[in-house]
Amino acid sequence: MNLVLFGPPGAGKGTQAARLAEKYGLAHLSTGDMLRAAVASGSELGRRVAAIMERGELVPDDIVVRLIEERIEQPDCAKGFILDGFPRTLAQAEALDRMLEAHGRRIDAVIEIAVDDDRLIDRIRRRIAESGGARSDDNEETLEKRLEVYHRQTAPLLPYYRRRGVLHSVDGMRSIEEVTAEIDRVLEGLR
Ligand code: ADP
Repeated sequence: MNLVLFGPPGAGKGTQAARLAEKYGLAHLSTGDMLRAAVASGSELGRRVAAIMERGELVPDDIVVRLIEERIEQPDCAKGFILDGFPRTLAQAEALDRMLEAHGRRIDAVIEIAVDDDRLIDRIRRRIAESGGARSDDNEETLEKRLEVYHRQTAPLLPYYRRRGVLHSVDGMRSIEEVTAEIDRVLEGLR
């Protein structure tokens, strides 16, 4: 089973992806985590993307596409994977379709975790306060930019996946447990 968890920054994709990965034995692939690891390691790639991420903009498609392509060929992805934070542009979605097709695989479901902007702003403000700014892109200015980028560049993927009949939406404004239960019901329906 190959899944995409879709939604704006702060929707809870990372939390839900970790739970699903554990429960279904799927690999959890977060491009945000991969990029943050590259920045922390001080690699050439990390140096290229650090400033872009700090501004809340998207790193170039070819970089994230390459990261994902290398990752899904690893043995732990054989049983399936959950994409968290990818794809974020139409070009990334098309590249994903092409690479999966080349391997005889496909996306079984795209699960949108829907949350209103006002609620996201509250949540991320709280995350900033609680973490003391542990994530360098969690600050007020970047947050607004990330939401704007989501609406302009990422949300247009919703009709793309709806047309393919793989899109399912869950209400991300409920508790973590309730969102997990709703996603479980979607996945049960796929079997
Ligand atoms: P969030 O969804 O909470 O904003 P992520 O951890 O998914 O956080 O991403 C953090 C940052 O990493 C993004 O703002 C962007 O700069 C970069 N990034 C992550 N995934 C992608 C992607 N698929 N395409 C382009 N940039 C990405």
